[in-house]
Amino acid sequence: MKRTDILIIGTGFSGMGMAMKLIDSGRHDFIVLEKAHDIGGTWRDNTYPGCECDIPSHMYSFSYELNPHWTKSFSEQPEIWDYLLRIADEKQLRDYIEFGVEVSGARWDDTTQTWTVHTNQGSYECRVLVAGVGALHIPNIPHVEGVDSFNGPQFHSANWDHDVDLSGKKVAVVGTGASAIQFIPIIADDVEQLTVFQRTPPWVLPKKDKPVPNWVKSIFASVPGAQRAYRNALYWTLESRAIAFNGHLNFLPIAEKLVKRYLKRVVPDPELRAKLTPDYRLGCKRVLQSNTYYQTYLRDHVELNTTGVQRIESDGIIDAEGTKHEVDVLIWGTGFHVIDAFDYLSITGRGGADLAKQFAENGVETYMGMTVHNFPNLYFMLGPNTGLGHNSVVFMIEQQTKYILRMLEAMEQRDAAAADVTQEAQDAFNHEVQRLVEKGIWTQGGCTSWYLDSQGKNRTIWPKFTFQYWWETRTIKTEDFEWVPAPVTAPAEPHTVAA
Ligand SMILES: Cc1cc2nc3c(=O)[nH]c(=O)nc-3n(C[C@H](O)[C@H](O)[C@H](O)COP(=O)(O)OP(=O)(O)OC[C@H]3O[C@@H](n4cnc5c(N)ncnc54)[C@H](O)[C@@H]3O)c2cc1C
Repeated sequence: MKRTDILIIGTGFSGMGMAMKLIDSGRHDFIVLEKAHDIGGTWRDNTYPGCECDIPSHMYSFSYELNPHWTKSFSEQPEIWDYLLRIADEKQLRDYIEFGVEVSGARWDDTTQTWTVHTNQGSYECRVLVAGVGALHIPNIPHVEGVDSFNGPQFHSANWDHDVDLSGKKVAVVGTGASAIQFIPIIADDVEQLTVFQRTPPWVLPKKDKPVPNWVKSIFASVPGAQRAYRNALYWTLESRAIAFNGHLNFLPIAEKLVKRYLKRVVPDPELRAKLTPDYRLGCKRVLQSNTYYQTYLRDHVELNTTGVQRIESDGIIDAEGTKHEVDVLIWGTGFHVIDAFDYLSITGRGGADLAKQFAENGVETYMGMTVHNFPNLYFMLGPNTGLGHNSVVFMIEQQTKYILRMLEAMEQRDAAAADVTQEAQDAFNHEVQRLVEKGIWTQGGCTSWYLDSQGKNRTIWPKFTFQYWWETRTIKTEDFEWVPAPVTAPAEPHTVAA
């Protein structure tokens, strides 16, 4: 069994952010476990054509690792991945990472007050466990009749198969979410026939994407404070979107009208336009951006099917009206397991508490999206209700890394071996979050989305401004935790020499 003080799972923005924070605070007794063979999380895995961020890169990056060299407003996957790889090298993060180690679960020991973490490479013991396993990480492929009988290649957007040549092929895409709207316009150039199966049309805004001119990059690189000022302006612009989403729905019609006007300009055909027009409020699902998505449907070889997928056969898809569509390659643009993102980890806490069971029975409830009652010294990053629809989640990740560091300091100040959030504090947090999400667009907007659990409760989105999250996590409310004292160790036996 390997021992370390702090164990981090994952090397995406979360795991890397946590590791950097620990190093900066002078803590080096930690290990990062990563099941893949390189760092990067989302930006290592998603290599589909056209993959890029939808929050401007100057904001979608670490505040303490500004990059003056972003080449465009919304950087593409290779550039974001490069950014993460460069930071990892500069900070020598690889010294702390063990690759190819997949965590399957963890068990809290009430006697030693430590976690035993189980992996495919043996066990680890640690005092504190930080799970940066990602909420958009496990591809979601719906159970469709006949899916295994399909003879051609099929893959999910997050596991793009670059060996499959799409040129001259009949391709079907199932799903029109954030990833799909990025790759659909690009693959349309290559394929012979593209059929897109849409369940619900997304709201798609024009994307204000443009190359960053060299003179701007030079200013960002050389003028102190210039990039920081730009980032601050971006932050507040993005933050202003939360006003409408968080409950002031009367601001939405203006934006909705603008998108509909844009759609009308791009798609003159009323029948096609009707299929592309959402029947729910803007913001209820993630708002998407593209300058080429709607335009793709104007092409003769691209068909939008809104009837639904009934079943899959060896050489095609039967839609809900019974029409067969011949297909050579099937691409799933159907998103990720979100609400159940942590369920595959078997985590046992104090007194044998089972995390998956607790989540199933009480809902996916945590305190601040990070800690769970009965699971001391375990922190989730980007956990429930800390996702965003309007701003960069890297902002949230940074607040979480700072909070976890404060928790470590608070434990040390109290000589505590563990900190367990109280049920009361957790309930109060969730009560407030649920009260607010119910007023927000995600509940009032007339849609179902991956933000909601099976009970219709939003377990994904932070329903306030992000600066409120900063405010609420900037100090530890010590009364919200039970501070568990270190176990008393028996004094060592006096050393006696046998006669
Ligand atoms: C295509 C795409 C575009 C996105 N664009 C944006 C955007 O523009 N703005 C925005 O705010 N958000 C965006 N997101 C959300 C994005 O997921 C987050 O911004 C962020 O990258 C999450 O970082 P993370 O470290 O928490 O998780 P991830 O990046 O998912 O990293 C998790 C890491 O943990 C590892 N791991 C998981 N389970 C285990 C295990 N059991 N054992 C060992 N290792 C494990 C994984 O291999 C992975 O490396 C996007 C997501 C996708 C999929």
